[in-house]
Amino acid sequence: MSTATASTPTQTASDYPDTQLFIDGQWCDAADGKTMAVFNPANGQEIGRLAHAGIADLDRALAAAQKGFETWRAVPAHERQALMRKAAQIFRERANETARHLTMEQGKPLAEAKGEALAAADVIDWMADEGRRVYGRIVPPRDLRGTAHVTRHPVGPVAAFTPWNFPINQVVRKLSAALATGNSIIVKAPEETPASPAALMRAFVDAGVPAGVVQLVYGVPSQISEYLIPHPIIRKITFTGSTPVGKQLAALAGQHMKRATMELGGHAPVIVCEDADIDLAIKTAGGAKFRNAGQVCISPTRFLVAKPIVEEFTQKFVAQAQRFAPADGLVEGTRMGPLANERRISAMQALTADAIKRGGTVATGGRKVGEAGNFWAPTILAHVPLEADIFNQEPFGPMAVVHGFDTLDQALTEANRLPYGLAGYAYTQSLRNAHQIAERLEVGLLWINQPAAAWPELPFGGVKDSGYGSEGGPEALEAYLTTKSVSTFCG
Ligand code: NAD
Repeated sequence: MSTATASTPTQTASDYPDTQLFIDGQWCDAADGKTMAVFNPANGQEIGRLAHAGIADLDRALAAAQKGFETWRAVPAHERQALMRKAAQIFRERANETARHLTMEQGKPLAEAKGEALAAADVIDWMADEGRRVYGRIVPPRDLRGTAHVTRHPVGPVAAFTPWNFPINQVVRKLSAALATGNSIIVKAPEETPASPAALMRAFVDAGVPAGVVQLVYGVPSQISEYLIPHPIIRKITFTGSTPVGKQLAALAGQHMKRATMELGGHAPVIVCEDADIDLAIKTAGGAKFRNAGQVCISPTRFLVAKPIVEEFTQKFVAQAQRFAPADGLVEGTRMGPLANERRISAMQALTADAIKRGGTVATGGRKVGEAGNFWAPTILAHVPLEADIFNQEPFGPMAVVHGFDTLDQALTEANRLPYGLAGYAYTQSLRNAHQIAERLEVGLLWINQPAAAWPELPFGGVKDSGYGSEGGPEALEAYLTTKSVSTFCG
């Protein structure tokens, strides 16, 4: 395993922009001038600052969102679509610069960062188009002297809270679905990775979105959510992040009867049956484990492998993992960057120590790499009892665990044992197994014999403690619409 590279990245901290708030059509500092630092996780250095909103800024954002809603709801869907498509094109054209800033603030390899930016442009396009297909319906009335029809309406100003693992993509699904359906939005984007979501917002601004339709704020997450969620101007909330925080925000939304979408944590099982194409499983799920250094809500982690092939699988998985030596994401050829913050390193250390204490073995990795930066070696644990923390807590890092099973029933029982239910993966050449897994695995997303595909046209969301609602497909727009049933007696 090579150590974190000391190669000089192609960019310096001076390339990284400071980030302001965006309220009522203006980029601005916080009313009290407060800022906070942004750090590069590859070397721990401060690279920029961001404005830190207080209550006065939130009040301005709320008033602007109310005004922006009145403006935007009156814009015909096909005009909204044209503006959104323009924003997508602007954002696509700026993908290289945005990707560089994303890598500097979050750590992921430049190619992954560029992929995130380009995928976001596709999400905007798809949601924009889908917004033109928000139809009502005519219902045959019981009294033929009247009519009955059903109409759809934007829900109203939205408050969105998004995390640092995909700073662009976690915003774009919420922003695009809200705008496509005629709503305004206040986005509380991640403080650790502020420049790339600001670049996304700038594309909409430069495309000509009217003042008040989009707002971007940063600050103390709990202060902002506790202020915005109960506020009467806000009609819907949407959150991506951890299950404990999601439960708090959903409870607050419930107290104030606000609609909510919750995209929370997962602990994805990967069921590898005896008849599976092992190389395909290693190449796709095995490789996907280390994408974004495992800081992905759908990251494959619990590899449940049929006992006759578990040793061969583990050996091949170790070889695959060792191809992901961590290094600065700006250095060409890097396949895995640092973890986005130091909290993840402590989490990796604790999970590894717990597994070893319980008799597990470290097949590869299990250690921090280098002194500066948050680099963690790609890690595979084996022979770990199911009570160990790694089998029960989402690692949110480059760590997987392999466990042998005798029957598919056993694998499904273990996969469904946890309260999480976001993503699952399966490898088998048997139609019967595939059908059993599709029917019985308690997840919102399932990929069989293929890598994860989070295409905008497919629903994206979980069940159980992984949340509710969807951030893809027509369901994503449904979340931002209300329904009105109108019956008229015409005499
Ligand atoms: P965390 O739970 O403190 O924060 C997760 C995200 O929620 C952050 O973006 C944070 O700013 C935001 N947040 C926290 N408290 C909030 C509040 N009261 N109101 C509004 N937003 C709030 O954890 P963390 O250390 O940043 O991340 C680690 C854990 O979070 C991981 O273990 C993972 O489970 C989860 N996570 C999940 C996703 C996802 O895509 N579902 C993304 C990032 C983090």
